[in-house]
Amino acid sequence: MENRTSRLLRYPGDMEAESYLYTVGPLAEQFLLSIKNEGKIKAAYCKNCGRLFLPVRSFCTFCGKEVNELREIDQEGVVESFSKVKLDSFGKELKEPFYLAYIKFRNVEGGLLHKLGEVKEPKIGMKVKPVFKESKERIGSLEDILYFRPI
Ligand SMILES: [Zn+2]
Repeated sequence: MENRTSRLLRYPGDMEAESYLYTVGPLAEQFLLSIKNEGKIKAAYCKNCGRLFLPVRSFCTFCGKEVNELREIDQEGVVESFSKVKLDSFGKELKEPFYLAYIKFRNVEGGLLHKLGEVKEPKIGMKVKPVFKESKERIGSLEDILYFRPI
């Protein structure tokens, strides 16, 4: 059956994606290392226009300049939206449903998607802060943040 994708030029083959190591890029590496080593969320900072970004990005979407440094930000976030997660990615019911939230930070463009914890009923506009794993357990991942809890 022909459809739009069947008309595309294709090359059959297997990608050995799992046999390579992929880097996250210099700025995202700094971001993950600041979580691991300092227990802090930092944002990408555009030196040209002064804007901060999360997730970190290597180019400013406002002025187009390269972004190559991180700045400390207020760790207090605000829940912009949230959703209760009841099923896993296979559609199987979770024993312990949880909340995922989109969290914004003061003066930062964008935000982070992460779990909420220690909360019964989240609310839009609720102030939250990150709860990190113990420093010896951190590996340099967003999962080093266990969840965000209400302040
Ligand atoms: Zn800029």
